[in-house]
Amino acid sequence: MTGMTGLEAMVRAVFEPDGMLSGADPHYKPRAGQIEMALAICEALQHKQALVVEAGTGVGKTFAYLVPALLSGQRVLVSTATKTLQDQLYGRDLPRLVQTLGIPVQIALLKGRANYLCLHRMELARSEAILPDRASVRALAKVEKWAHGTRTGDLAEMPGLDERSPLIPFITSNRDNCLGSECAHFKTCHLMAARRQALAAEVVVINHHLFFADLSVRQSGMAELLPTVDAVIFDEAHQLNATGVNFLGQNLSSAQWIDAARDVLAAGLTHARGASDWSALAALLEKSARDLRLLFPRESSNRLAWVQEAPQGVDGIEFRSACEQCLAAARQVSQAMEPVLDSAPDFPRLQERLMDLASLVERFLQPAAPGLVRWAEVNSGVRIIESPLDIAELFQKQILWGQAAVDVPLDTGWGIDPDDQDTPTSLPPARTWIFTSATLGNDDSLSWFTEPCGLTQARVLRVQSPFDYKKQGVLLVPRDMAPPQDPQHTEQVAELAEQVARALGGRTLVLTTTLRALKQIGEHLKQAFEGDASLEVLVQGEGSKRELMERFQQGGGTYQGGQAGFVLVASASFWEGFDVPGHALQAVVIDKLPFPPPNDPLVEARSAALQAKGRKPFMDYFIPEAAVALKQGAGRLIRRETDKGVLVVCDSRLIHTGYGKSMMAALPDMSRVSDLSLLLPALQRLRQLRTDSV
Ligand code: SF4
Repeated sequence: MTGMTGLEAMVRAVFEPDGMLSGADPHYKPRAGQIEMALAICEALQHKQALVVEAGTGVGKTFAYLVPALLSGQRVLVSTATKTLQDQLYGRDLPRLVQTLGIPVQIALLKGRANYLCLHRMELARSEAILPDRASVRALAKVEKWAHGTRTGDLAEMPGLDERSPLIPFITSNRDNCLGSECAHFKTCHLMAARRQALAAEVVVINHHLFFADLSVRQSGMAELLPTVDAVIFDEAHQLNATGVNFLGQNLSSAQWIDAARDVLAAGLTHARGASDWSALAALLEKSARDLRLLFPRESSNRLAWVQEAPQGVDGIEFRSACEQCLAAARQVSQAMEPVLDSAPDFPRLQERLMDLASLVERFLQPAAPGLVRWAEVNSGVRIIESPLDIAELFQKQILWGQAAVDVPLDTGWGIDPDDQDTPTSLPPARTWIFTSATLGNDDSLSWFTEPCGLTQARVLRVQSPFDYKKQGVLLVPRDMAPPQDPQHTEQVAELAEQVARALGGRTLVLTTTLRALKQIGEHLKQAFEGDASLEVLVQGEGSKRELMERFQQGGGTYQGGQAGFVLVASASFWEGFDVPGHALQAVVIDKLPFPPPNDPLVEARSAALQAKGRKPFMDYFIPEAAVALKQGAGRLIRRETDKGVLVVCDSRLIHTGYGKSMMAALPDMSRVSDLSLLLPALQRLRQLRTDSV
């Protein structure tokens, strides 16, 4: 132990076979990978380093970063991508660990503002009949009752309130409608209280969205948290770039205009009734937004590229005219508010908000600045977006310069040129940055993650999963299947999935790369198993991801016990974060190698940017993206040491092409077969395993 620091020695002791963790949990087993990761975190914390750790499934990465973070005595921000992990850290892992370690540490949970009851907006919703339906009126009555007793105002704690309830936007604030210190409820505001607690705690659990909001004073109204912490730990860091790009882009949606129209109506009727025809003004704003939406193709739900003066499929002249109509409406409503500005703080705030929306419209009437990409997303409303291609520049500035607040000006992209005059001359001390996830790349430098995040100089560590994949899993790449571009391919995948599910009695997750394949395979399986009470077919969209996951989890017991096995056909978001340990999930069937869609505007822009640098988009972007997504999809299969199962990848490019072989190398090292018939006896044996016997 020569050269070991005090912190390292303490951390090692906690993970020893007879250490504190083993004392608290009889199932605890020391894992070399977990200790290796914990010691790397110690070093990063002591030397204020940037560290990227890919920790395979089963390493126990949460405790590997929490133990050193807690024992270091530093003030730490832990950020997750999902609310599920955020709640699990705050509600389960952290309290358990704080108790085990016996150290007095104050922890706090901070969510986005849309999670907290806004007392001001609740009052507005109550006093004016602006709610969309009767169910919302009834729900509001319940919320008002609950509001008397809640300590946190966190709506997730309110029993019986559906997180998709249409009431929620009326009783929560956003950065546009929050009155801040002008608000009559400022002193008792739940959001402000949560922020104060976060500022006072030693460990604060946030999510990536909030992290980006906190970076920008203009976005959040406060950029207080980051400058006060010694270390930031990102779990589920693989989502950081996507969240950052999304957040730091400029968005303009028809929904924002319609919300503003509603708020004009509510504020006008509550605080200045009779001063103007508020209904007519609100209708004017709303109509301008709806007219803009009508220019876009009706049934499109995809991203529309935007390289000319208007989004693809939209006439340039009509687009300009609809935008100008929005501008005129915003100006007219803003003028109507002039005489009543002093009657309530809502009016100046609304005026500012309308001017912000108008500036955005003006921005979108100008060509995009170099390095930024634009597109439109159309569903029942329309959203137009301009975003950077990645967050490299931002993170480099945060890490290298340690600057706390980054304002994102409306007129010049990000405004984070290191030569900027506003780069502070006396910098705050640098802090530790830790990024971790089970999947961060397909090469040793984890360039899939580090390049777009500007972390190519960071220290990189890969910790292998402790699972014995050769014994626990089998990989089948069927030899005799049609190539993936063949029209027969999807039907053949459906037939194969049917055979696997039949042999296992369900317990099968089918992951598709397109919604078309999702639909076709879902229909095939529903038909094939119609009337079979022992097996139920679920298709993405028949419930939330969490609901589907919970139902699927119940399928690993005996049918005699009354529980059917499940087959779930899903796409996109189910390739990651679908966590079903045990025998309820014994097969994952993947239809094709998950390359990014080449005609997606962001994908096109990233390819063009690489080409401009003399690089090869297929090698440097498409392959790493597909390899990481494939690794994530395959990672659904084996979730713990006792799990066993088969992975079927119905795409022969995996074995017949050079790039396929490099993707294969990124997959867990399982035994391999090339024909389903060779696998059937193994499937029969798997079927005998019961979740209740584990
Ligand atoms: S300060 Fe903002 S979030 Fe808090 S009650 Fe007032 S408007 Fe709502």
